[in-house]
Amino acid sequence: MTRVSRSLFGDLDVEVELDAPIGVRSWFCAGGRADFLVKPRTPDALAELLRRCRQVDTPVRIMGEGANLLVDDDGVSGIVVRLDDPAFRRIEHNVDGQLELVRVGAGADLARTLMDFARGGIAGLESLMGVPASIGGAVRMNAGGVYGEIGNAVHAVACLDAGGENRVYTADELRFDYRSTNIVDPIILWAVFRVTQENPVTLRERIKEIAAYKKRTQPLGEKSAGCMYRNPIDPATGERVSAGQIIDEAGLKGLRHGSATVSTRHANFFTVERNGRARDAIELGDLVRAKILDARGIELRREVVVWDRSNPGGIEDA
Ligand SMILES: Cc1cc2nc3c(=O)[nH]c(=O)nc-3n(C[C@H](O)[C@H](O)[C@H](O)COP(=O)(O)OP(=O)(O)OC[C@H]3O[C@@H](n4cnc5c(N)ncnc54)[C@H](O)[C@@H]3O)c2cc1C
Repeated sequence: MTRVSRSLFGDLDVEVELDAPIGVRSWFCAGGRADFLVKPRTPDALAELLRRCRQVDTPVRIMGEGANLLVDDDGVSGIVVRLDDPAFRRIEHNVDGQLELVRVGAGADLARTLMDFARGGIAGLESLMGVPASIGGAVRMNAGGVYGEIGNAVHAVACLDAGGENRVYTADELRFDYRSTNIVDPIILWAVFRVTQENPVTLRERIKEIAAYKKRTQPLGEKSAGCMYRNPIDPATGERVSAGQIIDEAGLKGLRHGSATVSTRHANFFTVERNGRARDAIELGDLVRAKILDARGIELRREVVVWDRSNPGGIEDA
């Protein structure tokens, strides 16, 4: 375990929780603890924390809503940051005097933001209805689905690099691909979205339609982190194919390992029962991956980010 000294943050404007149970606060509702959960109250405090952590080689991870995260049962060493303070959740309209630009803090809840937008007749994020996320986590993962992805609406993104320096990416510097971006900095601070004005009634109808689709097709009431695997490229056709469909066709719906199950509603959702083990979901994932490689010659890559003590990032390349 990395030894973390309190001198890293003792004099900073931050709230600190020791031995914080972050696994049970993720959407999987399973997994271990963080040595320190740090909630900065200002961007300056966060920048200074990053600077100090880099100097002494202490790992820093950032957790959004934990909707795409699986924390190993043994937890993680070092520092986990959450942007819960209102300083990181602000929404600012008319950025640079432009009606079509809205800045949203990375800690803001995506669902609340898009519902706020909808009430004001502001369109741009509604395709993300039903995707649990913070703004930072959604940008980091380029969250989306059949109705569109968040990258389509992004105009600019501000980050802190590993040394705590600010960096703003303009639209032409950003690339959003399938569930990924070219942003390499560890912390996203805010994003500016391009929005349009729309009739709030029409907007509400569209949101209802998307919510109904999500409810019909995904096990939203169970404990999961959405799709376990990215949709892979089929080597036979060169086309991206549905990982859920491949797992379903392999007859793996309902497959169980300990407390984890391949959902019977959506085969790419792995669920964990109450008081279950994160390790069960990881091992079930490995089992499914091996079976798909054997049956179809396709190597599945995780979409869910797995954090464990040996692994500071946990993101698999697409
Ligand atoms: C029921 C359910 C349905 C889902 N449906 C969809 C769907 O339709 N489409 C889809 O794309 N996803 C879906 N997901 C997955 C999840 O909602 C998305 O991946 C979402 O973007 C995760 O955001 P988060 O804030 O929870 O990130 P977390 O899970 O907390 O973190 C995910 C990654 O983002 C990083 N991160 C978080 N915040 C920041 C930040 N501020 N700066 C830099 N990095 C950051 C984390 O370090 C981690 O690497 C679903 C999940 C669930 C549980």
